[in-house]
Amino acid sequence: MPKSDLVLLAFDDVQILQLFDRTLTAVSFRVAVARNRLALDRVLSESNPALVIISQNFDGVDGLEIASGLLERFPTLPVLLLLLQDSPDIVKKAIHVGVSDCLVSPLNVDEILKIVENGIKRASRIGDWTRREVKRTTASLQLRVEELQEFDTILEHIEDGVIILDNQSNLLLINPAARRAFGLWQDYTVKGKPVMEVLPNPDLKILLDEKINNPLSHNEISFADGRVLSTQCTPIPKIGMAITMQDITHLKQLDRLKNEFVYTVSHDLRSPLTAILGYVDLLDRVGPVNEQQRDFIHRVQVSVKSITSLVNALLELDRIETGFDAQKEVVPLAGIIRYVLETLGSQISDKKLKLHLNLPMEIPQMRGNPIRLRQMLDNLIGNAIKYTPEGGEITVEVEAQNDQLILRISDTGPGIPPADQAHIFEKFYRASNIPKGVGGSGLGLAIVKSIVENHQGRVWVDSLVGIGSAFTVLLPLSKQSVSQPA
Ligand code: ADP
Repeated sequence: MPKSDLVLLAFDDVQILQLFDRTLTAVSFRVAVARNRLALDRVLSESNPALVIISQNFDGVDGLEIASGLLERFPTLPVLLLLLQDSPDIVKKAIHVGVSDCLVSPLNVDEILKIVENGIKRASRIGDWTRREVKRTTASLQLRVEELQEFDTILEHIEDGVIILDNQSNLLLINPAARRAFGLWQDYTVKGKPVMEVLPNPDLKILLDEKINNPLSHNEISFADGRVLSTQCTPIPKIGMAITMQDITHLKQLDRLKNEFVYTVSHDLRSPLTAILGYVDLLDRVGPVNEQQRDFIHRVQVSVKSITSLVNALLELDRIETGFDAQKEVVPLAGIIRYVLETLGSQISDKKLKLHLNLPMEIPQMRGNPIRLRQMLDNLIGNAIKYTPEGGEITVEVEAQNDQLILRISDTGPGIPPADQAHIFEKFYRASNIPKGVGGSGLGLAIVKSIVENHQGRVWVDSLVGIGSAFTVLLPLSKQSVSQPA
């Protein structure tokens, strides 16, 4: 321990003062003396003592009170209290206010040195620890600052748009890619403002409204100049919501070109296919055909019919996607369900399937296109029949909830592997586990999805391999809905 530490003695008793002074200077401590409170303040402001000793009565005031005041101003300064006689009560109070130790008169030289040295040692250990802690905290803060700076740099430079909202949909953060997407050039005064005030985009509004029902909602935002952003909303606990956006304009354009190509080819194929079928049908009328020729004719007919139904499905899909028949009318949904089940009745009984039909007593009125909704049900119930093995079960149920109708078609078929589930609504996609010999074009669910979207609804599948599949369709109800008997 360096012996040049300064010890401040605040005593007014000359004899005790001299004893301490002599004892401490003899072992090379420096000593400063204060005989009243004014002097004490002056020494403290002019020097930096390593330790202060205050006598129990100092300058006519309680030394404990002065010690307490000192510790409030200098919390890390070791303060010792010199008692004129032992008093456990005062010692307790002294420890309570933060005094490091108490000395009790009379004292010999060794005791004085031991207590002073211990006091300074303890203070120096606390000082070392505090310095180490400050260093550690500063280092970890510095690390956090660097991480935040890195995060800022990433957000500044990524091509994906990022918007963070608080729970009241006010803007907390919008990165440059999102600013560029919405044409918000260098306007930095948007923080804290309602997002719809800053970015009044109708698709964004739908996305934010929808997130209430579907917290992990996914959507597209279109702009007047033809750009399309694929948008994902993700709730962030205790903060609000993150909206991430990718520009998919080029994918949309490719998709449109592909659709146009498919439409043109399908359209141009229809007439020659009709002609082929017509002439093949005429073959046995213009002259006798043998058994083998009849078999070949039959195969040609089956193949041409299958290509024709594929072409028709493609043309249908194009009509639905382009919103060709957008007119809506009040739809007798229960009637349509019953009609579809009737037309598919022979297939249900051929496969000995058990059908459960759960319709509510009354179905609230909804507006839609009856032909398209029939087509949607045809595909969903048709698939359930097609994929469920003999003796299985099919359930068709309808439920009205708040402002939407929930339609669910479930079966005890083979189920759909999780990896396929995300793709089955794409055109021409067929899952990896379809039973052998079960035919199809892979267009049925693409048609279902387009029809549902044209009705501002949503469709999804829940499926477990080996257990079955359930397709759920949500259809919004008319604003002022009236119930119809089911
Ligand atoms: P497909 O003409 O092949 O039936 P869809 O578009 O109707 O075409 O369906 C796409 C794929 O989804 C099907 O090939 C099948 O793999 C799967 N799928 C659809 N419905 C069911 C179902 N009820 N059970 C099992 N798999 C199904």
